[in-house]
Amino acid sequence: MNPRAITSGRPARVKRDVSAGHPDWCEGGHHCTANTMPDGEHQSRPETWRTDLGRIVGTRLRNRHGHDRMELRVVLDLADDEDLAQAQARHLMAVTYTVVRRVFGAELRE
Ligand SMILES: [Zn+2]
Repeated sequence: MNPRAITSGRPARVKRDVSAGHPDWCEGGHHCTANTMPDGEHQSRPETWRTDLGRIVGTRLRNRHGHDRMELRVVLDLADDEDLAQAQARHLMAVTYTVVRRVFGAELRE
Protein backbone atom coordinates (compact mmCIF):
# COMPACT_ATOMS: atom_id res chain seq x y z
CA MET A 1 0.00 0.00 0.00
CA ASN A 2 1.45 3.30 -1.03
CA PRO A 3 0.98 6.21 1.37
CA ARG A 4 -2.26 8.00 0.68
CA ALA A 5 -2.98 11.55 1.78
CA ILE A 6 -6.24 11.78 3.68
CA THR A 7 -5.95 15.53 4.17
CA SER A 8 -3.87 18.00 2.19
CA GLY A 9 -2.67 20.21 5.03
CA ARG A 10 -4.18 23.17 3.19
CA PRO A 11 -6.71 25.41 4.89
CA ALA A 12 -10.33 24.33 4.67
CA ARG A 13 -11.42 27.94 4.20
CA VAL A 14 -10.75 29.67 0.91
CA LYS A 15 -11.01 33.21 2.26
CA ARG A 16 -8.84 34.43 5.08
CA ASP A 17 -8.02 37.71 6.71
CA VAL A 18 -4.63 38.47 5.14
CA SER A 19 -4.43 41.73 7.08
CA ALA A 20 -3.83 39.65 10.23
CA GLY A 21 -0.57 38.35 8.74
CA HIS A 22 -1.55 34.70 8.39
CA PRO A 23 0.58 32.72 5.89
CA ASP A 24 -1.52 31.17 3.13
CA TRP A 25 -1.19 27.72 4.76
CA CYS A 26 -2.46 28.84 8.19
CA GLU A 27 -5.77 27.26 9.11
CA GLY A 28 -6.73 30.33 11.16
CA GLY A 29 -9.65 30.19 13.59
CA HIS A 30 -8.97 28.36 16.83
CA HIS A 31 -5.97 26.56 15.26
CA CYS A 32 -4.01 29.80 15.01
CA THR A 33 -2.85 31.44 18.24
CA ALA A 34 -0.31 33.82 16.64
CA ASN A 35 -2.30 36.92 17.50
CA THR A 36 -4.05 35.75 20.64
CA MET A 37 -1.37 34.16 22.87
CA PRO A 38 2.05 35.45 23.99
CA ASP A 39 3.87 32.45 22.51
CA GLY A 40 1.21 31.75 19.89
CA GLU A 41 1.83 30.31 16.44
CA HIS A 42 0.24 30.14 13.05
CA GLN A 43 -0.75 26.54 12.48
CA SER A 44 -1.62 24.61 9.34
CA ARG A 45 -4.40 22.12 9.08
CA PRO A 46 -2.73 18.77 9.81
CA GLU A 47 -1.78 16.76 6.73
CA THR A 48 -2.54 13.11 7.36
CA TRP A 49 -1.18 10.17 5.39
CA ARG A 50 -2.55 6.67 5.73
CA THR A 51 0.15 4.09 5.04
CA ASP A 52 0.49 0.34 5.26
CA LEU A 53 2.26 0.84 8.59
CA GLY A 54 -0.02 3.43 10.17
CA ARG A 55 -0.75 7.15 10.11
CA ILE A 56 1.69 9.99 9.65
CA VAL A 57 0.41 13.44 10.61
CA GLY A 58 2.32 16.66 9.94
CA THR A 59 1.42 20.15 11.13
CA ARG A 60 3.32 23.27 10.13
CA LEU A 61 3.87 26.06 12.67
CA ARG A 62 5.25 29.63 12.51
CA ASN A 63 5.77 31.92 15.47
CA ARG A 64 5.32 35.68 15.29
CA HIS A 65 9.04 36.14 14.60
CA GLY A 66 8.76 34.07 11.42
CA HIS A 67 10.47 30.95 12.78
CA ASP A 68 9.00 27.86 11.10
CA ARG A 69 8.67 24.48 12.77
CA MET A 70 6.87 21.23 12.04
CA GLU A 71 5.13 18.84 14.38
CA LEU A 72 5.22 15.24 13.15
CA ARG A 73 3.23 12.39 14.67
CA VAL A 74 3.51 8.75 13.66
CA VAL A 75 0.82 6.36 14.87
CA LEU A 76 1.75 2.68 14.51
CA ASP A 77 0.58 -0.63 15.84
CA LEU A 78 3.06 -2.23 18.24
CA ALA A 79 3.58 -5.94 18.86
CA ASP A 80 1.33 -7.71 21.36
CA ASP A 81 4.37 -8.86 23.31
CA GLU A 82 5.21 -6.13 25.86
CA ASP A 83 8.99 -6.50 25.64
CA LEU A 84 8.91 -6.42 21.84
CA ALA A 85 6.50 -3.46 21.86
CA GLN A 86 8.86 -1.53 24.14
CA ALA A 87 11.81 -2.38 21.91
CA GLN A 88 9.89 -1.30 18.81
CA ALA A 89 8.95 2.01 20.45
CA ARG A 90 12.55 2.74 21.49
CA HIS A 91 13.88 1.72 18.10
CA LEU A 92 11.41 4.04 16.39
CA MET A 93 12.55 6.92 18.60
CA ALA A 94 16.22 6.22 17.87
CA VAL A 95 15.74 5.81 14.13
CA THR A 96 13.57 8.93 13.98
CA TYR A 97 16.26 10.92 15.78
CA THR A 98 18.92 9.63 13.36
CA VAL A 99 16.86 10.56 10.31
CA VAL A 100 15.86 13.98 11.67
CA ARG A 101 19.48 14.73 12.60
CA ARG A 102 20.62 13.71 9.12
CA VAL A 103 18.00 15.89 7.41
CA PHE A 104 17.99 18.88 9.79
CA GLY A 105 21.35 18.64 11.57
CA ALA A 106 23.36 21.76 12.23
CA GLU A 107 26.00 20.83 9.63
CA LEU A 108 23.31 21.10 6.93
CA ARG A 109 22.02 24.51 8.07
CA GLU A 110 25.20 26.33 7.16
ZN1 LIG B 1 -2.42 32.28 11.55
